[in-house]
Amino acid sequence: MDHPDQTTHFGYRDVPLSDKQTLVNDVFHSVAQRYDLMNDLMSAGLHRVWKDIMINALNPPRSDRPFVLLDLAGGTGDIAFRAASAAGGGFQATVCDINPDMLRVGHLRAVSRHLEHQVAFVEGNAETLAFPDRHFDACTIAFGIRNVPRIDLALREAYRVLKPGGRFLCLEFSSVDVPGLDRLYEMFSFKVIPQLGRIVTDDAGSYRYLVESIRKFPKPQAFAGMIRAAGFLRVSHQSLSGGIVALHSGWRL
Ligand code: SAM
Repeated sequence: MDHPDQTTHFGYRDVPLSDKQTLVNDVFHSVAQRYDLMNDLMSAGLHRVWKDIMINALNPPRSDRPFVLLDLAGGTGDIAFRAASAAGGGFQATVCDINPDMLRVGHLRAVSRHLEHQVAFVEGNAETLAFPDRHFDACTIAFGIRNVPRIDLALREAYRVLKPGGRFLCLEFSSVDVPGLDRLYEMFSFKVIPQLGRIVTDDAGSYRYLVESIRKFPKPQAFAGMIRAAGFLRVSHQSLSGGIVALHSGWRL
């Protein structure tokens, strides 16, 4: 049970831990319809490259061998769809997200791609998963973990539901470490992204939160330590695009 005074970050604001999820849910309720378009605009299409790097690392079997993926905080299903196109007939994915609006958009995308039999959309909180122990071959989470109030719980749940030999992969915004790029990135993040959010979704505040939450997220070494603390072994990370994003990996062995 959380102590009632325990606080966490909602962007740059300190909020009671118990309020963060409601605030995060409001953000994704507000942006769900335009989420995919905004991803392309905000990242100049780069999110597609980062996600493809994650799918390459996942390397799902191209055969009919069964392979079950859990995509946490999977939103509109991007990771699951990319994994399905890289995989063979034995591939099944469950997209789990706390927000029904994001899942609704994802399910419609699955139907339009004829993937509704391979990709299921399930409402759930990454901190308390309703899946059995040792069930999935892999667990991915892309740009989702920083929105979860109790990251340590979500990592432990990912570990619990993975089969021994299963892999955890996490794509998340990180800290830019290239001189010059850092200032450009700062300017783009705080000036351009909220304005784009205002024009495309009529919601600058939600995109300001998304930018601020990136700055508050632990540095890659610290986050790797959290993944280890959840029980994962062979933990590693790879910095992408000058540190804008990091791909973290761990194994349940
Ligand atoms: N993974 C998708 C992608 O890369 O396009 C969506 C990422 S979106 C930035 C973050 C997602 O995290 C939202 O869909 C939000 O609803 C979800 N989320 C936030 N808190 C969550 C929680 N506690 N459990 C599960 N999903 C959560």
